[in-house]
Amino acid sequence: MRKRDVPLTGAELEKIAARYPTPFHVYDEKAIRENARAFYRAFSWVKGFKNYFAVKACPNPALLGILGEEGMGVDCSSLPELLLAERSGFSGEEIMFTSNDTPPHEFVEAARLGAVINLDDISHIDTLEQRAGIPEMISFRYNPGDLRGGNGIIGEPQEAKYGVPRDRIVEAYRLAREKGARRFGLHTMVASNELNESYFVETARMLFELAVKIQEETGIRVEFVNMGGGIGIPYRPEDGAVDLAQVSAGMQEFYRQTIVPSGLDPVRIVFECGRLITGPYGYLVSRVLHVTRKYKNYVGLDACMANLMRPGMYGAYHHISVPGKEGLSRDSIYDVTGSLCENNDKFAVNRPLPKIQPGDLLVIHDTGAHGHAMGFNYNGKLRSAELLLREDGSVRLIRRAETVDDYFSTLRFPGASVRV
Ligand SMILES: *Cc1c(COP(=O)(O)O)cnc(C)c1O
Repeated sequence: MRKRDVPLTGAELEKIAARYPTPFHVYDEKAIRENARAFYRAFSWVKGFKNYFAVKACPNPALLGILGEEGMGVDCSSLPELLLAERSGFSGEEIMFTSNDTPPHEFVEAARLGAVINLDDISHIDTLEQRAGIPEMISFRYNPGDLRGGNGIIGEPQEAKYGVPRDRIVEAYRLAREKGARRFGLHTMVASNELNESYFVETARMLFELAVKIQEETGIRVEFVNMGGGIGIPYRPEDGAVDLAQVSAGMQEFYRQTIVPSGLDPVRIVFECGRLITGPYGYLVSRVLHVTRKYKNYVGLDACMANLMRPGMYGAYHHISVPGKEGLSRDSIYDVTGSLCENNDKFAVNRPLPKIQPGDLLVIHDTGAHGHAMGFNYNGKLRSAELLLREDGSVRLIRRAETVDDYFSTLRFPGASVRV
Protein backbone atom coordinates (compact mmCIF):
# COMPACT_ATOMS: atom_id res chain seq x y z
CA MET A 1 0.00 0.00 0.00
CA ARG A 2 1.12 3.53 -0.73
CA LYS A 3 1.65 6.04 2.01
CA ARG A 4 -0.19 9.34 1.65
CA ASP A 5 1.72 11.67 -0.60
CA VAL A 6 3.58 14.55 0.96
CA PRO A 7 1.64 17.67 -0.09
CA LEU A 8 4.86 19.49 -1.07
CA THR A 9 7.46 18.60 -3.68
CA GLY A 10 11.17 18.44 -2.96
CA ALA A 11 11.69 21.76 -4.72
CA GLU A 12 8.93 23.41 -2.69
CA LEU A 13 10.38 22.02 0.53
CA GLU A 14 13.81 23.40 -0.41
CA LYS A 15 12.25 26.81 -0.96
CA ILE A 16 10.58 26.67 2.44
CA ALA A 17 13.79 25.45 4.07
CA ALA A 18 15.67 28.43 2.62
CA ARG A 19 13.36 30.67 4.65
CA TYR A 20 12.77 28.47 7.70
CA PRO A 21 15.79 26.28 8.40
CA THR A 22 15.22 22.57 9.05
CA PRO A 23 14.04 20.85 11.07
CA PHE A 24 10.41 21.99 11.11
CA HIS A 25 6.95 20.51 11.30
CA VAL A 26 4.53 21.54 8.59
CA TYR A 27 0.76 21.02 8.84
CA ASP A 28 -1.61 20.72 5.89
CA GLU A 29 -4.62 22.98 6.53
CA LYS A 30 -6.69 21.75 3.62
CA ALA A 31 -6.34 18.11 4.59
CA ILE A 32 -7.09 18.90 8.24
CA ARG A 33 -10.29 20.73 7.31
CA GLU A 34 -11.44 17.97 4.94
CA ASN A 35 -10.72 15.36 7.59
CA ALA A 36 -12.63 17.30 10.27
CA ARG A 37 -15.65 17.54 7.96
CA ALA A 38 -15.52 13.83 7.18
CA PHE A 39 -15.50 13.01 10.90
CA TYR A 40 -18.58 15.15 11.51
CA ARG A 41 -20.33 13.74 8.44
CA ALA A 42 -19.79 10.20 9.72
CA PHE A 43 -21.75 11.06 12.87
CA SER A 44 -24.40 13.28 11.31
CA TRP A 45 -27.16 11.16 12.92
CA VAL A 46 -26.02 12.33 16.38
CA LYS A 47 -27.75 15.50 17.57
CA GLY A 48 -25.10 17.87 18.92
CA PHE A 49 -22.16 15.73 17.84
CA LYS A 50 -18.87 17.36 18.77
CA ASN A 51 -15.19 16.55 18.92
CA TYR A 52 -13.25 18.32 21.63
CA PHE A 53 -9.79 18.34 20.09
CA ALA A 54 -7.23 17.16 22.64
CA VAL A 55 -5.05 20.25 22.91
CA LYS A 56 -2.08 18.22 24.09
CA ALA A 57 -1.84 16.60 20.66
CA CYS A 58 -0.92 19.85 18.93
CA PRO A 59 -1.17 22.92 21.14
CA ASN A 60 -0.93 25.63 18.52
CA PRO A 61 -3.51 28.44 18.31
CA ALA A 62 -3.46 28.42 14.50
CA LEU A 63 -4.61 24.81 14.44
CA LEU A 64 -7.03 25.25 17.34
CA GLY A 65 -8.56 28.18 15.44
CA ILE A 66 -9.01 26.11 12.29
CA LEU A 67 -10.65 23.30 14.26
CA GLY A 68 -12.88 25.80 16.04
CA GLU A 69 -14.04 27.03 12.64
CA GLU A 70 -14.86 23.42 11.76
CA GLY A 71 -17.12 23.19 14.80
CA MET A 72 -14.81 21.52 17.25
CA GLY A 73 -14.31 22.30 20.90
CA VAL A 74 -11.13 21.67 22.86
CA ASP A 75 -10.15 19.17 25.52
CA CYS A 76 -7.70 20.54 28.07
CA SER A 77 -5.88 18.87 30.93
CA SER A 78 -3.83 21.63 32.51
CA LEU A 79 -3.94 25.31 33.37
CA PRO A 80 -1.71 26.38 30.46
CA GLU A 81 -3.90 24.39 28.07
CA LEU A 82 -7.00 26.10 29.48
CA LEU A 83 -5.41 29.51 28.98
CA LEU A 84 -4.32 28.57 25.47
CA ALA A 85 -7.88 27.50 24.69
CA GLU A 86 -9.19 30.82 25.98
CA ARG A 87 -6.62 32.79 23.96
CA SER A 88 -7.55 30.75 20.90
CA GLY A 89 -11.16 31.87 21.16
CA PHE A 90 -12.87 29.01 23.02
CA SER A 91 -15.20 29.62 25.91
CA GLY A 92 -17.71 27.95 28.20
CA GLU A 93 -18.82 24.46 27.28
CA GLU A 94 -16.71 24.47 24.12
CA ILE A 95 -13.98 23.54 26.58
CA MET A 96 -13.79 20.11 28.19
CA PHE A 97 -11.45 19.84 31.16
CA THR A 98 -10.36 16.21 31.41
CA SER A 99 -7.49 16.09 33.85
CA ASN A 100 -6.17 13.70 36.45
CA ASP A 101 -4.16 14.26 39.64
CA THR A 102 -5.45 17.79 39.17
CA PRO A 103 -3.93 20.69 41.10
CA PRO A 104 -6.94 22.33 42.85
CA HIS A 105 -6.27 25.80 41.39
CA GLU A 106 -6.77 24.35 37.91
CA PHE A 107 -10.36 23.49 38.82
CA VAL A 108 -10.80 27.15 39.77
CA GLU A 109 -9.64 28.27 36.33
CA ALA A 110 -11.77 25.67 34.55
CA ALA A 111 -14.81 26.84 36.54
CA ARG A 112 -14.05 30.51 35.74
CA LEU A 113 -14.08 29.61 32.04
CA GLY A 114 -17.34 27.72 32.43
CA ALA A 115 -15.68 24.60 31.01
CA VAL A 116 -17.27 21.18 31.33
CA ILE A 117 -15.33 19.65 34.20
CA ASN A 118 -14.74 15.97 33.86
CA LEU A 119 -13.76 14.57 37.26
CA ASP A 120 -11.23 11.76 37.45
CA ASP A 121 -12.13 10.73 40.99
CA ILE A 122 -15.00 10.85 43.45
CA SER A 123 -12.78 12.68 45.96
CA HIS A 124 -12.47 15.61 43.52
CA ILE A 125 -16.12 16.51 44.18
CA ASP A 126 -15.10 17.86 47.59
CA THR A 127 -12.06 19.67 46.19
CA LEU A 128 -14.19 21.27 43.54
CA GLU A 129 -16.85 22.25 46.07
CA GLN A 130 -14.30 23.84 48.40
CA ARG A 131 -12.24 25.63 45.77
CA ALA A 132 -14.63 26.61 43.01
CA GLY A 133 -18.11 25.58 44.03
CA ILE A 134 -20.02 22.79 42.32
CA PRO A 135 -20.89 23.87 38.79
CA GLU A 136 -24.23 23.16 37.21
CA MET A 137 -22.65 20.60 34.86
CA ILE A 138 -20.45 17.74 36.06
CA SER A 139 -19.01 14.82 34.16
CA PHE A 140 -17.13 11.80 35.46
CA ARG A 141 -14.45 9.72 33.85
CA TYR A 142 -15.36 6.06 34.21
CA ASN A 143 -12.81 3.25 34.51
CA PRO A 144 -14.47 -0.08 33.69
CA GLY A 145 -11.67 -2.17 35.26
CA ASP A 146 -11.66 -5.77 34.10
CA LEU A 147 -14.83 -5.29 32.06
CA ARG A 148 -12.61 -4.14 29.19
CA GLY A 149 -9.25 -5.16 27.79
CA GLY A 150 -6.88 -2.25 27.23
CA ASN A 151 -4.42 -1.69 24.46
CA GLY A 152 -0.71 -1.05 24.03
CA ILE A 153 -0.15 2.57 24.91
CA ILE A 154 -2.76 3.06 27.60
CA GLY A 155 -2.55 -0.38 29.23
CA GLU A 156 -5.14 -2.48 31.05
CA PRO A 157 -7.94 -0.42 32.67
CA GLN A 158 -7.48 -2.04 36.10
CA GLU A 159 -3.82 -0.98 36.02
CA ALA A 160 -4.69 2.56 34.91
CA LYS A 161 -4.56 5.52 37.26
CA TYR A 162 -7.56 7.10 35.57
CA GLY A 163 -11.20 7.31 36.32
CA VAL A 164 -13.90 6.32 38.81
CA PRO A 165 -14.09 2.55 39.31
CA ARG A 166 -17.22 0.58 38.60
CA ASP A 167 -18.27 0.14 42.22
CA ARG A 168 -18.26 3.91 42.88
CA ILE A 169 -19.55 5.45 39.68
CA VAL A 170 -23.25 5.58 40.60
CA GLU A 171 -22.38 6.95 44.04
CA ALA A 172 -20.31 9.68 42.33
CA TYR A 173 -23.35 10.95 40.43
CA ARG A 174 -25.53 10.84 43.55
CA LEU A 175 -22.99 12.81 45.50
CA ALA A 176 -22.53 15.42 42.76
CA ARG A 177 -26.30 15.93 42.63
CA GLU A 178 -26.54 16.17 46.41
CA LYS A 179 -23.98 18.96 46.27
CA GLY A 180 -25.87 20.86 43.63
CA ALA A 181 -24.94 19.60 40.16
CA ARG A 182 -27.94 19.60 37.82
CA ARG A 183 -26.56 18.47 34.46
CA PHE A 184 -24.39 15.45 33.88
CA GLY A 185 -21.98 13.88 31.44
CA LEU A 186 -20.21 10.52 31.32
CA HIS A 187 -16.71 9.96 29.96
CA THR A 188 -14.29 7.13 29.43
CA MET A 189 -11.08 6.56 27.57
CA VAL A 190 -9.77 3.03 27.51
CA ALA A 191 -7.67 2.85 24.36
CA SER A 192 -5.03 4.82 22.56
CA ASN A 193 -4.12 4.65 18.90
CA GLU A 194 -6.66 1.87 18.42
CA LEU A 195 -7.45 0.87 14.83
CA ASN A 196 -10.14 -1.72 15.53
CA GLU A 197 -13.61 -0.31 14.83
CA SER A 198 -15.40 -2.73 17.11
CA TYR A 199 -13.41 -1.51 20.09
CA PHE A 200 -15.13 1.88 19.87
CA VAL A 201 -18.52 0.35 19.25
CA GLU A 202 -18.08 -1.75 22.41
CA THR A 203 -17.00 1.32 24.37
CA ALA A 204 -20.12 3.15 23.25
CA ARG A 205 -22.28 0.21 24.25
CA MET A 206 -20.63 0.16 27.67
CA LEU A 207 -21.30 3.89 28.17
CA PHE A 208 -24.88 3.66 26.92
CA GLU A 209 -25.60 0.79 29.31
CA LEU A 210 -24.01 2.67 32.16
CA ALA A 211 -26.04 5.80 31.37
CA VAL A 212 -29.19 3.67 31.57
CA LYS A 213 -28.06 2.12 34.86
CA ILE A 214 -27.33 5.56 36.34
CA GLN A 215 -30.79 6.68 35.36
CA GLU A 216 -32.43 3.57 36.77
CA GLU A 217 -30.62 3.81 40.09
CA THR A 218 -30.63 7.58 40.63
CA GLY A 219 -33.03 9.15 38.17
CA ILE A 220 -30.11 11.20 36.81
CA ARG A 221 -30.20 11.76 33.07
CA VAL A 222 -26.77 11.85 31.50
CA GLU A 223 -26.94 14.41 28.68
CA PHE A 224 -23.76 13.38 26.88
CA VAL A 225 -21.42 10.44 26.67
CA ASN A 226 -17.83 11.32 25.91
CA MET A 227 -15.94 8.54 24.16
CA GLY A 228 -12.56 10.17 24.85
CA GLY A 229 -9.85 10.07 22.21
CA GLY A 230 -7.81 7.14 21.09
CA ILE A 231 -8.95 6.58 17.52
CA GLY A 232 -5.78 5.44 15.81
CA ILE A 233 -4.24 6.38 12.50
CA PRO A 234 -2.45 4.20 9.95
CA TYR A 235 1.19 4.93 10.73
CA ARG A 236 2.38 1.94 8.72
CA PRO A 237 1.81 1.76 4.98
CA GLU A 238 0.04 -1.58 5.44
CA ASP A 239 -2.36 -0.24 8.12
CA GLY A 240 -5.88 0.78 7.17
CA ALA A 241 -7.57 3.87 8.56
CA VAL A 242 -10.42 3.36 11.03
CA ASP A 243 -13.69 3.13 9.11
CA LEU A 244 -15.66 5.85 10.89
CA ALA A 245 -18.86 4.98 9.05
CA GLN A 246 -18.64 1.49 10.52
CA VAL A 247 -17.96 2.84 14.02
CA SER A 248 -20.86 5.25 13.69
CA ALA A 249 -23.29 2.62 12.37
CA GLY A 250 -22.34 0.21 15.15
CA MET A 251 -22.86 2.89 17.76
CA GLN A 252 -26.19 3.88 16.27
CA GLU A 253 -27.36 0.28 16.53
CA PHE A 254 -26.59 0.13 20.26
CA TYR A 255 -28.04 3.60 20.75
CA ARG A 256 -31.33 2.32 19.35
CA GLN A 257 -31.17 -0.78 21.53
CA THR A 258 -30.30 0.89 24.85
CA ILE A 259 -30.71 4.66 24.92
CA VAL A 260 -33.93 4.93 22.95
CA PRO A 261 -36.01 2.39 24.94
CA SER A 262 -34.76 3.88 28.24
CA GLY A 263 -36.24 7.25 27.32
CA LEU A 264 -32.83 8.95 27.61
CA ASP A 265 -32.82 9.98 23.94
CA PRO A 266 -31.39 12.42 22.93
CA VAL A 267 -27.98 11.77 24.48
CA ARG A 268 -25.20 13.67 22.74
CA ILE A 269 -22.17 11.66 21.71
CA VAL A 270 -18.86 13.46 21.79
CA PHE A 271 -15.19 12.58 21.36
CA GLU A 272 -11.86 14.03 22.46
CA CYS A 273 -9.80 12.86 19.52
CA GLY A 274 -6.46 14.47 18.86
CA ARG A 275 -4.42 12.04 16.82
CA LEU A 276 -7.18 11.27 14.33
CA ILE A 277 -7.73 14.97 13.64
CA THR A 278 -4.26 16.30 12.92
CA GLY A 279 -1.89 13.33 13.14
CA PRO A 280 -1.68 12.30 9.48
CA TYR A 281 -1.49 15.90 8.25
CA GLY A 282 1.75 16.93 9.92
CA TYR A 283 5.24 16.25 8.55
CA LEU A 284 8.62 16.63 10.21
CA VAL A 285 11.07 17.89 7.59
CA SER A 286 14.72 17.34 8.39
CA ARG A 287 18.02 17.43 6.55
CA VAL A 288 20.60 14.67 6.44
CA LEU A 289 23.83 15.75 8.11
CA HIS A 290 25.78 12.51 7.89
CA VAL A 291 25.61 9.12 6.28
CA THR A 292 27.95 6.77 8.13
CA ARG A 293 28.87 3.11 8.15
CA LYS A 294 29.59 1.48 11.51
CA TYR A 295 28.35 -2.03 12.30
CA LYS A 296 25.21 -0.77 10.60
CA ASN A 297 24.48 2.06 8.21
CA TYR A 298 23.31 5.30 9.77
CA VAL A 299 21.57 8.38 8.47
CA GLY A 300 22.09 11.25 10.92
CA LEU A 301 19.50 14.03 10.78
CA ASP A 302 19.37 17.60 12.06
CA ALA A 303 16.17 16.60 13.91
CA CYS A 304 16.23 14.42 16.99
CA MET A 305 13.92 12.83 19.53
CA ALA A 306 13.19 16.30 20.95
CA ASN A 307 11.26 16.97 17.72
CA LEU A 308 9.46 13.64 17.68
CA MET A 309 9.61 11.35 20.64
CA ARG A 310 7.25 8.55 19.62
CA PRO A 311 9.75 6.26 17.89
CA GLY A 312 12.23 6.46 20.78
CA MET A 313 9.59 6.31 23.48
CA TYR A 314 7.20 3.66 22.13
CA GLY A 315 9.21 2.12 19.32
CA ALA A 316 6.50 3.65 17.12
CA TYR A 317 6.72 3.41 13.35
CA HIS A 318 6.74 6.66 11.38
CA HIS A 319 6.94 6.43 7.64
CA ILE A 320 9.80 8.28 5.94
CA SER A 321 9.82 9.74 2.43
CA VAL A 322 12.77 11.13 0.55
CA PRO A 323 11.52 13.88 -1.75
CA GLY A 324 13.04 13.62 -5.21
CA LYS A 325 13.90 9.94 -4.67
CA GLU A 326 10.33 8.59 -4.74
CA GLY A 327 10.99 6.56 -7.86
CA LEU A 328 14.17 4.88 -6.59
CA SER A 329 14.07 1.46 -5.06
CA ARG A 330 14.39 1.24 -1.31
CA ASP A 331 17.40 -1.04 -1.39
CA SER A 332 19.56 0.45 1.37
CA ILE A 333 18.97 -0.36 5.02
CA TYR A 334 19.54 2.41 7.56
CA ASP A 335 18.96 3.41 11.13
CA VAL A 336 17.76 7.01 10.93
CA THR A 337 19.01 8.86 13.98
CA GLY A 338 19.10 12.17 15.77
CA SER A 339 22.01 13.59 17.71
CA LEU A 340 20.95 12.96 21.33
CA CYS A 341 23.45 11.12 23.49
CA GLU A 342 20.87 8.36 23.83
CA ASN A 343 20.95 5.36 21.57
CA ASN A 344 17.15 5.24 21.38
CA ASP A 345 17.23 8.56 19.53
CA LYS A 346 16.26 6.82 16.32
CA PHE A 347 13.39 7.70 14.00
CA ALA A 348 13.67 4.34 12.31
CA VAL A 349 15.61 1.11 12.75
CA ASN A 350 16.60 -1.14 9.84
CA ARG A 351 14.51 0.96 7.46
CA PRO A 352 14.77 0.28 3.74
CA LEU A 353 15.29 3.59 1.97
CA PRO A 354 16.71 4.74 -1.33
CA LYS A 355 20.42 5.49 -1.13
CA ILE A 356 20.79 8.62 1.02
CA GLN A 357 23.35 11.40 0.67
CA PRO A 358 24.24 14.18 3.12
CA GLY A 359 22.12 17.20 2.27
CA ASP A 360 19.02 15.17 1.34
CA LEU A 361 15.74 16.24 2.89
CA LEU A 362 13.78 13.54 4.70
CA VAL A 363 10.10 13.82 5.48
CA ILE A 364 8.87 11.93 8.53
CA HIS A 365 5.13 11.32 8.28
CA ASP A 366 2.24 11.55 10.73
CA THR A 367 3.75 14.09 13.10
CA GLY A 368 0.66 16.29 13.33
CA ALA A 369 -0.32 14.95 16.76
CA HIS A 370 1.89 14.07 19.72
CA GLY A 371 4.86 15.25 17.64
CA HIS A 372 6.18 18.73 18.32
CA ALA A 373 4.00 18.77 21.42
CA MET A 374 6.05 16.11 23.19
CA GLY A 375 9.30 18.02 22.65
CA PHE A 376 11.83 18.69 25.38
CA ASN A 377 15.20 20.32 25.94
CA TYR A 378 17.31 17.41 27.14
CA ASN A 379 20.88 17.57 25.83
CA GLY A 380 20.34 21.26 25.06
CA LYS A 381 18.09 20.42 22.13
CA LEU A 382 15.83 23.20 20.94
CA ARG A 383 12.29 22.67 19.73
CA SER A 384 11.67 23.36 16.08
CA ALA A 385 9.41 25.76 14.25
CA GLU A 386 5.87 24.82 13.18
CA LEU A 387 4.56 25.90 9.79
CA LEU A 388 1.11 25.88 8.28
CA LEU A 389 0.63 25.01 4.63
CA ARG A 390 -2.45 27.04 3.83
CA GLU A 391 -5.19 26.19 1.40
CA ASP A 392 -3.81 28.70 -1.15
CA GLY A 393 -0.42 26.94 -1.07
CA SER A 394 1.34 29.63 0.95
CA VAL A 395 3.23 28.77 4.10
CA ARG A 396 2.85 30.59 7.40
CA LEU A 397 5.07 30.41 10.44
CA ILE A 398 2.82 29.46 13.37
CA ARG A 399 5.55 28.89 15.95
CA ARG A 400 9.13 30.02 15.63
CA ALA A 401 11.99 27.70 16.49
CA GLU A 402 13.42 27.99 19.98
CA THR A 403 16.69 29.86 20.34
CA VAL A 404 19.55 29.55 22.78
CA ASP A 405 18.09 32.59 24.55
CA ASP A 406 14.90 30.62 25.15
CA TYR A 407 16.98 27.80 26.57
CA PHE A 408 18.73 30.24 28.93
CA SER A 409 15.63 32.21 29.82
CA THR A 410 14.67 30.22 32.90
CA LEU A 411 18.20 29.96 34.30
CA ARG A 412 19.46 32.09 37.17
CA PHE A 413 23.22 32.27 37.07
CA PRO A 414 25.37 32.57 40.23
CA GLY A 415 25.94 36.20 41.16
CA ALA A 416 22.40 37.17 40.27
CA SER A 417 21.00 35.61 43.43
CA VAL A 418 18.25 37.25 45.42
CA ARG A 419 17.69 36.59 49.11
CA VAL A 420 14.35 34.89 49.77
C1 LIG B 1 -4.57 11.98 25.18
C2 LIG B 1 -6.00 12.13 25.45
C3 LIG B 1 -6.89 12.36 24.39
C4 LIG B 1 -6.48 12.37 22.95
O1 LIG B 1 -5.94 11.15 22.55
P1 LIG B 1 -5.69 10.87 20.98
O2 LIG B 1 -4.94 9.58 20.98
O3 LIG B 1 -4.85 12.01 20.50
O4 LIG B 1 -7.00 10.82 20.34
C5 LIG B 1 -8.21 12.57 24.70
N1 LIG B 1 -8.65 12.56 25.97
C6 LIG B 1 -7.82 12.35 27.01
C7 LIG B 1 -8.38 12.34 28.39
C8 LIG B 1 -6.47 12.11 26.79
O5 LIG B 1 -5.66 11.87 27.82
